Amino acid sequence: MQKVIFLKYGELSTKKDNRNFFIKILNDTIKKKLQDKVEVSYDLGRMFIIPKNDNFEEVITKLQTIFGIHEIVVAYRLENKDLNDIKNNLITILQDKNFKTFKVEVKRSDKNYPIHSMELRKIFGATILKNKQNIKVDVNKPEVIINIEIRLKEVLIYFDSIKGLGGYPVSSLGKGILMLSGGIDSPVSGYLTIKRGVKLEAIYFESPPHTSDYALDKVKKLAKLLAPYNNDIKLHIINFTEIQEAIYKNIPHEYLITIMRRMMYRISAIVASRINAKVIVNGESIGQVASQTLTSMSVINEVVKIPVIRPVACLDKLEIIDIAKKIGTYDTSILPYEDCCTIFVPDHPVINPVKNKCEEYEKLIDYENMIYNAVKNRKVITIKEIEDNIYKDLL
Ligand code: ATP
Ligand code: MG
Repeated sequence: MQKVIFLKYGELSTKKDNRNFFIKILNDTIKKKLQDKVEVSYDLGRMFIIPKNDNFEEVITKLQTIFGIHEIVVAYRLENKDLNDIKNNLITILQDKNFKTFKVEVKRSDKNYPIHSMELRKIFGATILKNKQNIKVDVNKPEVIINIEIRLKEVLIYFDSIKGLGGYPVSSLGKGILMLSGGIDSPVSGYLTIKRGVKLEAIYFESPPHTSDYALDKVKKLAKLLAPYNNDIKLHIINFTEIQEAIYKNIPHEYLITIMRRMMYRISAIVASRINAKVIVNGESIGQVASQTLTSMSVINEVVKIPVIRPVACLDKLEIIDIAKKIGTYDTSILPYEDCCTIFVPDHPVINPVKNKCEEYEKLIDYENMIYNAVKNRKVITIKEIEDNIYKDLL
């Protein structure tokens, strides 16, 4: 009898044709994250993880940061499927477990096993009753459920399962580019997108000297907090000063934000095509500010063809904050460093911008050249999830 961890794939297992593909990516992610701490093996129904030094807790904590894992179960694995052997092991396992009521669940995926699950349930129930004092069966509200799975090559015995993060394994559904500001919304959007199996690279627009290195550090910290879910994260840093100053000098101020955001979208789309990202992801939320009315969003959106995903579009700020707290980005997001959007905010930004006016105003600046330079001169850094580089002091 061996104590093991196994994973239930949950949603993954409904994807029949791609199941192998998803499972393989999950296996690679786990191996990368837990490096030489575990042995991993899998079949189409279950993935087994055996901690090498018996450090179950540490391994489970890590597994709880990996998307694509729905349930984590600590189980006893028996290679011998002989009925008497299973019964004896069951008694040993239950020796130190205290409970008053229980229920037995049997799953028999080995369809050639000579005894059916209904019958097995009765047999195991009777064995338990005979060997433990003062307990009884309660099928409705049992204190413990004793699960016994008869599989092709083994028997698994276990009690509860621990909830995993769910979603899909990282990068199993392609790549996106996240517009990452220092705010609350964009890291949450990033998290929710990575959860759907999209590997992200992030893009940040800075305007030195109007924005400080502290603001950049804050974004790096946020990227660092997303890195464990994403298997590291690349951050593209765009110097936006020239564009922003040109807009500020030449364009009616009520259109500053609209046009600034159209420029951000254009740049994000170009970087996306360079890195083969299929979507732009951002933290826009309907109605949150003037640039996030439906009219604003559509006038801004129309400068790019690439789809734009807005995972928090329909959430209230408080709902977004809840997620930010849960994933640990909130405290960093509320640090008070200025963002390039906030320093050039006009008193009365337009709520219903008009596309033709944007186009007319944009002719006043040589934005194509500036965009070309901004993309060409961008800095790209890789923020690692494992602290082996100069960014380790950021957290
Ligand atoms: P957040 O929305 O992240 O809390 P915010 O509210 O300050 O920050 P908004 O002005 O609401 O940002 O901008 C909406 C979205 O545009 C952000 O969520 C982010 O995706 C993107 N964005 C804004 N500023 C920047 C920036 N300097 N660099 C990269 N993306 C940005
Ligand atoms: Mg916002």
